[in-house]
Amino acid sequence: MSAVRTTCPYCGVGCGIVASPTAQRDVAIKGDTAHPANRGKLCSKGTHLGETVGLEGRLLHPMIGETRVTWDMALDDVAARLADTVADYGPDSVAFYVSGQLLTEDYYVANKLMKGFIGSGNIDTNSRLCMASAVAAHNRAFGEDLVPCTYADLDAAELIVLVGSNTAWCHPVIWQRIEAARERTGAKLVVIDPRRTETAERADLHVAIAPDGDVALFNALLAELAARGQLDTGYLAAHCEVPVGYIAGLDAAAHGIDPATFAALADLVAAHPRMVTMFSMGVNQSVCGTDKANAIINLHLATGRIGLPGAGPFSMTGQPNAMGGREVGGLANMLACHLGFAEDERAAVRRFWKAPNLCGGPGLKAVDMFRAVHDGRIRFLWVMATNPAVSMPDAAFVREALARCPNVVVSDVIADTDTSRFAHVRLPALAWGEKDGTVTNSERVISRQRPFFAPPGEARADWRTLCDVAARLGHGSAFAFASPAAVFREYAAMTALAAGRGKVLDLVAQASLTDAGYDALEPSRWGGEHPLRRRYPTPSGRARVVPVEPPPASTGLRLNTGRYRDQWHTMTRTGLSPRLAAHRREPLLEVSPGDAATMGLVDGGLGQVTTPAGAAVFRVAVHDGQAPGAAFAPMHWTDAMASSGRTGALVVAATDPHSGQPGFKNVGATLAPV
Ligand code: SF4
Repeated sequence: MSAVRTTCPYCGVGCGIVASPTAQRDVAIKGDTAHPANRGKLCSKGTHLGETVGLEGRLLHPMIGETRVTWDMALDDVAARLADTVADYGPDSVAFYVSGQLLTEDYYVANKLMKGFIGSGNIDTNSRLCMASAVAAHNRAFGEDLVPCTYADLDAAELIVLVGSNTAWCHPVIWQRIEAARERTGAKLVVIDPRRTETAERADLHVAIAPDGDVALFNALLAELAARGQLDTGYLAAHCEVPVGYIAGLDAAAHGIDPATFAALADLVAAHPRMVTMFSMGVNQSVCGTDKANAIINLHLATGRIGLPGAGPFSMTGQPNAMGGREVGGLANMLACHLGFAEDERAAVRRFWKAPNLCGGPGLKAVDMFRAVHDGRIRFLWVMATNPAVSMPDAAFVREALARCPNVVVSDVIADTDTSRFAHVRLPALAWGEKDGTVTNSERVISRQRPFFAPPGEARADWRTLCDVAARLGHGSAFAFASPAAVFREYAAMTALAAGRGKVLDLVAQASLTDAGYDALEPSRWGGEHPLRRRYPTPSGRARVVPVEPPPASTGLRLNTGRYRDQWHTMTRTGLSPRLAAHRREPLLEVSPGDAATMGLVDGGLGQVTTPAGAAVFRVAVHDGQAPGAAFAPMHWTDAMASSGRTGALVVAATDPHSGQPGFKNVGATLAPV
């Protein structure tokens, strides 16, 4: 087979890849020089994808319990469990928990089946753990979930501010682009992060805020710029709604960092109007993540630094297709295609889908969904392409919930995951290299993921499995898609509902793609380069400066969690690569030298972390990049690979009130030597 142009399955940078199969289940990987996201570059994870495509551990056949069954038997069983549960307990007794690993076509079909035909809003996604707060902030400020920047803005910026992001490790190709831009243009870099990460070490200025200190800092910065006469009062007056007296009431001294660092930051911001602020999990994964993102957006609106080359607030997504899931509406608090649950929006969606049972309103967001599974309100759960028994906060509670649930279906590529151990039915899915569809990256570029391996065993596409179940529920004609292209065409046509209501999301031109046109689809961005500047998709046409208050200061030791450079999520794929494993062979608990001394922890020894959710043991790494009073642990290790170092067991299930996103950072903890 000749080389195939596809996209990387890991992070939201969305790099293009040229995959050249060399033998059965062997492939050579190169960056795609024609893809706008990476222009040929790849990071270590993308480069070593070829080491992760073997069939070890794959789920190759449908299973009911430990018995291999035919697809017909498995689909009949899933449909019967779903139908019986709905008949006995109503549509809100069933739920889908899906994933930013799904392709847009999988997402679209899952969302349509649950919200239009089963009649519940109970479809949520592991993207809830990743960027839901950015979504909520965009909706509050812009009236639509819209990232107003592209990667080209990094090339044009004079100042790049990274907030809550170890970009060098977590979005490495963006990092390479930032480094190249700095070298070429002399752009300045500020990193705002409690940790002195590898990214922070390369910055012109590292602002080491307290965990969740972002709102205080950005509010103070806004006040300071106002005091220096740096606001764009014309832009504010013409294009923004600002609560009376809000900006004037902010305190330029209430930033919580040392005054010299704040002054240096304010000087840099004041001197460089072409400023991009990129934010990621340190902002989103917080019980006040939506307010943090709005504090960042407020600063850009008030200074008119938005919708221009080199200027804007830029949310980086974690997963390869979190954006595609957002676009089709695969979140419990959205209906479809950037539409909500207002009666006219529901009526339009009902007509478009010819939906017999359109849901009445939002469903349960991830944390609440698992609470409902635990207490028996949800009695059927279908988990697709994610491992919530490890990745959800309070993972022990989630395991209890899964153990209690009378109907757990898991669609996955891996036979034995921490979650699939609770499954009554396991359905084999396609992996990267077999999947065929589209994904959207952080800068709104839709790219094709193309197959280059034949499906192994009886694995099949998730969208097709969902359609087969829908047919067994009596909805065959609405789910008679012959191909992923047919799904994409229907989704693209549906965006007319959003565009007709003044939203920016508009793929109607792609609704007439032929199958050949879909196969050949080049990376294409919806919304253009700078969709926001003069008219916002709010009822008034103006952006909203949203008043935000800093949270109360935290006390005691705070645990932050995050990624390692060469691992991905729960390591089901990256764990297969020996070269990736060499970067960090085990999970390390990073603590500051002072805290280590106070708590009796030694470098290389063992330490136990205890939180209200649970306890876990790690090897200790004393690191002066950790601020006193804070510790850091990686998120990747699971029971399947280690008896210790399981971070998911430590995170409490507290959530942001606007987005429902859990706070994976800033968890109160105690440490002790083992
Ligand atoms: Fe893949 Fe992200 Fe690395 Fe690009 S930066 S190669 S998308 S993991």
